[in-house]
Amino acid sequence: MIPTNTSGASTDTWSKDRAPREIVFHGGKKDNLACHSERVSRSPEQSEGEESGGAQGELHEGEETCPICKGAGFVHPLLDSGQPDFSRVEPCQCKREELQREKFQYLQKYSNLGFLSRLTFDNLSPKGKRDDAISQERFARVYQMAKVFADNPKGWLVFFGPAGCGKTHLACAIANHRLNLGQPAFYIGVADLLDHLRSAFSPTSDITYDGLFEQVKNTPLLVLDDLSMEGATLWAKEKLEQLLNHRFNARLATVITTDVPLEKFDERLGGRLRDSEFCQVCIVGQKSSLACLDSLQLELLRNMTFDNFDYKRLNLPLEQRQNLQQAFHLARDFAPSPEGWLIFHGVNGCGKTHLAAAIANYRLAQGKPVFFVVVPDLLDHLRSTFSPQSNISYDEFFEGIKQCPLLILDDFGEQSVTPWAQEKLYQLINYRYNARLPMVITSCFSLDEIEPRISSRMVDPRLSLVFNIIAPDYRGDVKPSQMAKRPEPRITRRQRL
Ligand SMILES: [Zn+2]
Repeated sequence: MIPTNTSGASTDTWSKDRAPREIVFHGGKKDNLACHSERVSRSPEQSEGEESGGAQGELHEGEETCPICKGAGFVHPLLDSGQPDFSRVEPCQCKREELQREKFQYLQKYSNLGFLSRLTFDNLSPKGKRDDAISQERFARVYQMAKVFADNPKGWLVFFGPAGCGKTHLACAIANHRLNLGQPAFYIGVADLLDHLRSAFSPTSDITYDGLFEQVKNTPLLVLDDLSMEGATLWAKEKLEQLLNHRFNARLATVITTDVPLEKFDERLGGRLRDSEFCQVCIVGQKSSLACLDSLQLELLRNMTFDNFDYKRLNLPLEQRQNLQQAFHLARDFAPSPEGWLIFHGVNGCGKTHLAAAIANYRLAQGKPVFFVVVPDLLDHLRSTFSPQSNISYDEFFEGIKQCPLLILDDFGEQSVTPWAQEKLYQLINYRYNARLPMVITSCFSLDEIEPRISSRMVDPRLSLVFNIIAPDYRGDVKPSQMAKRPEPRITRRQRL
């Protein structure tokens, strides 16, 4: 390698080709970073006579001059003949590290990540933040997808989940990984983007509107955080649509995070997000509405364990005590490896909910997924997912319940019996019946009071064990004989006709 003049050529193509003319940071300041790279791409000779602030800053008097490039910073590579190839230049080894560092700093500034540059894969737990096995498995899958994408970003990657589920961290980890590989990435929150665009229109703005928008449109990797069209003005919607249309048509790699169910986006954008050839959608976190529906969150149910289940109830007649003890053993045997359906039938207060909750708590203590829900709450919640304010889609919620490894339905039969509710319950039960997925069901209704399409599955002895608890309400002195006299159930035979 021979030191020479660099004759004005630059290998530093990234700075020339990709440098945006103007760059917007968090806080809206503008800067022109091209000079950072130019500083090292010129030899001292070239810099002579140029305005101050150029290359002179590189070599200070008294500093040792590199023996290879004599301080030029660049060399001509050698041809096979051993002669220098004057048509090309490359950085001298004395400059490479510095160049890399500057390139990284440049890319980091260009990325607009700001303090989000601390969000990397290294400080993100591959299992996520939640402690249940279902969420952990899901997060681990998403984490892997994010890593694969970060190594080779192609198409769109959408992270969907509620606030705090880790989707922004995943998206920023991808961007930071790209920067570390020396590749550009640009981060912007949708609300910030719209603010910038709006302010860029103002006559006092020193950013040109086109500058920022072109940059966001064309960056090789864009992270668009918190995408939402909700409450957006017509103008804002139009801008976002322009942006996404452009990136879709140009096949530009894009990471999107959102807490808006995909079907809430308009047809065109929704269609793009559902284009599985081009766009991968990752469900990152358990929806907060699922979490709040999980009745085990309630302190009372949390405390219902096998240990504190009083199956002795010494005041009861022997037959009832033995019956209760049997129920207890059935539940306790079911809990370690749930198979099939365990159905407890009995009056309110007989202990069936306690046993069902004890199974759920046992599973949770083992780190196993379980979903415990009171049936009327479940139906209310399913209905609410249809509301435009819902932050979870109906499909997603219903699929989650249908496929949950262990589902516990408390108070079956207490639900109102609109045809819609009947149909939902039938779909749920039928799915789990066909898939042979374990369930625990409690009900104070006898099987012949339950809709036949459902009860016929409940009595299938290959799958289901129905146990009738004859103990009375522990809170009172209800006698088992009173069971027959309890108020007319809300599911009536008439409903089934
Ligand atoms: Zn050198």
